[in-house]
Amino acid sequence: MPLDTAIEYLKGVGPQRADVLKKELGVFTFGDLLFHFPFRYIDRTKFHRISDIRTEGEQYQVKGILRRLETVGSGRAKRLAGTLRDASGAIELVWFQGVSWLERNLHVGKEYVLFGRASQFNGRFNIAHPELEEVTPENIQSARTFDPVYPSTDKLTQKGLDARGLRKLLRTLFDTLKPADIVETLPDYMQEQYKLIPRWEALQKIHFPENQQDLDAATRRLKFEELFFMQLRLLQIRRRRKDASKGFVFDTIGEFFNTFYHDKLPFDLTGAQKRVLKEIRADLASGQQMNRLIQGDVGSGKTVVALMSMLMALDNGYQACLMAPTEILAQQHFEGITELVGDMGINVGFLSGSVKGKKRAAILEQLAAGDMHIVIGTHALIEDWVQFQNLGLTITDEQHRFGVEQRAALWKKGAGLPPHVLVMTATPIPRTLAMTLYGDLDVSVIDELPPGRKPVTTMLKNEHHRLRVQGFMKEEIAKGRQVYVVYPMIEETENADMLNLQAGYDAMSRDFPKPDYQISIVHGKMKAQEKDYEMQRFVKGETQIMVATTVIEVGVNVPNASVMVIENAERFGLSQLHQLRGRVGRGAEQSYCILMSSFKLSHEGRERLQTMVRTNDGFEIAEVDLRLRGPGNMEGTQQSGMLRFLLADLARDSQVITAAREIAARILDADPALGQPEHQRLRVHLEATGKEAKVWSRIS
Ligand code: ADP
Ligand code: MG
Repeated sequence: MPLDTAIEYLKGVGPQRADVLKKELGVFTFGDLLFHFPFRYIDRTKFHRISDIRTEGEQYQVKGILRRLETVGSGRAKRLAGTLRDASGAIELVWFQGVSWLERNLHVGKEYVLFGRASQFNGRFNIAHPELEEVTPENIQSARTFDPVYPSTDKLTQKGLDARGLRKLLRTLFDTLKPADIVETLPDYMQEQYKLIPRWEALQKIHFPENQQDLDAATRRLKFEELFFMQLRLLQIRRRRKDASKGFVFDTIGEFFNTFYHDKLPFDLTGAQKRVLKEIRADLASGQQMNRLIQGDVGSGKTVVALMSMLMALDNGYQACLMAPTEILAQQHFEGITELVGDMGINVGFLSGSVKGKKRAAILEQLAAGDMHIVIGTHALIEDWVQFQNLGLTITDEQHRFGVEQRAALWKKGAGLPPHVLVMTATPIPRTLAMTLYGDLDVSVIDELPPGRKPVTTMLKNEHHRLRVQGFMKEEIAKGRQVYVVYPMIEETENADMLNLQAGYDAMSRDFPKPDYQISIVHGKMKAQEKDYEMQRFVKGETQIMVATTVIEVGVNVPNASVMVIENAERFGLSQLHQLRGRVGRGAEQSYCILMSSFKLSHEGRERLQTMVRTNDGFEIAEVDLRLRGPGNMEGTQQSGMLRFLLADLARDSQVITAAREIAARILDADPALGQPEHQRLRVHLEATGKEAKVWSRIS
């Protein structure tokens, strides 16, 4: 295959250049070079006005009359100076070399097309060594192209492979290749139906478009191809897994579920909760193993959905477990759920690293004997010594806090078949990212908050407002409410952060003196027991203020807390800020989030904080986060290099992703094995590229 030919065999490359191409760009073959796409284009189809030349270093194409041409200076300082003028203004031109040749060949009074890079000298713009071309009726139309600009490096430039050198290589490559060398991957009918140009044409045009339309058509085709095959692959994996993975059939809705629903549930479920429960119920009865992610903003009521799913398992004679990432959170789940199920005769246990000795032995015994119905705990649950009699459902809260292996360990605890798996997250993931990252999972969204919840009011403040903010905190405390004050704690600067936190605590102790005010402090360096003790004081209302680092981020529920003050708020990421804000607004009272920021804010920092002020919608916040940080930095995506695309951008191409997914799903519905003749290209391409693709999206 010509595309597999080693790059040194391309005319103009040779061993030395091949060496740098491999090292610097990872270009080993003709095919690799073909997919080294330009990162921008110089649009030589358009003309600027001379008065538009305002950015140093930028390249411009203008058209004007040469008004002046003279040599100035002498000896080594001799240079040629000129002026080009159009209706909008004039620009100085200067040449230091080839002066006599230029003098002979340029003519004052004639019209030229100029192309060059603007520089500034003595406060005025000029262009050194511009390309000038006389305007004639023939040339003004032709040869006005989009010039590709390729990413290059110093080492490449030393070997003559700057943007221009690479452009030349690509030209040579296209002269060498024949259209048949580039295998079409999409069936004709798809190209026709979705108005996609052929692959060969697209690759040519991505490198050498003649105009913007060419470039758009090429980009559209290649982007679609990238996203379509990714979705096709993910959906195929998902279908295969579903076909292969038998699961327990929970087809009974019985005593436990019904009693809870009719007699115990203290509120009406929201529409979203009902919908998600229905989806779960269908999964559990399907005969296939459930593998479902529930996304729901903080406070959307995931816990009760988890509980009711567990009751479905119980009704069918199976055990269930719920795993949470921290002791505090697991404890809260345990207490909340124990209270909810009350006297229903359900045996609920708690297991964590701190449950030891006889207590632990008793729980393990009951689990193994099947006498304990539900166990709630931390990652202690996945230890080998925890054995179930018949585990039918595992639920993981705040799933992104656990590693893949930790979650997978729960699978092995099933009785014969693997248990059904439900994972829950309060970190909303933009739809497009979820589709890609969790492409082989079923996703449910709780997109509705329980009624009567007042949105948290968010304010942006700085040091000038310090006294007013304190006054406000005192007012709220006087009303019987509680307040969080959170400091950033980022590992590299941990010591400085510790001092910050301590200084903050000292200042708080001064401004909010005992005995009127009691303050708790919690940070990551404390022992679990101390932390717990301080947390509990706040939970019970013995302290009014909780000074903390982000350890309180996850899940803590103190409905009486109505104010969240976040210090150095610009140092937090958007999803973290959103999680922190979710700690308040859990009761009936109006709650407030006060973002304390420095005076100097980066553009991005400001946008983050303003987004927080503007909206309470976790999904909207996640979209902004994705746009600001890029998909590779989103929570939970760091490990998956698969999110690197050549052209596609998960933040901007949501429509293409959605379309690609729908099309892929439709094709697989009609032709699951891609065995029909018209799908042969799809099958061949998937197989050819399959070796590179890993099943990186399995999260449970
Ligand atoms: P999260 O999704 O953040 O885990 P929780 O499950 O902790 O949210 O629920 C937050 C609060 O809302 C809890 O106090 C819970 O009892 C309450 N809640 C949940 N569902 C409803 C509902 N349908 N109506 C009223 N309150 C609800
Ligand atoms: Mg929760």
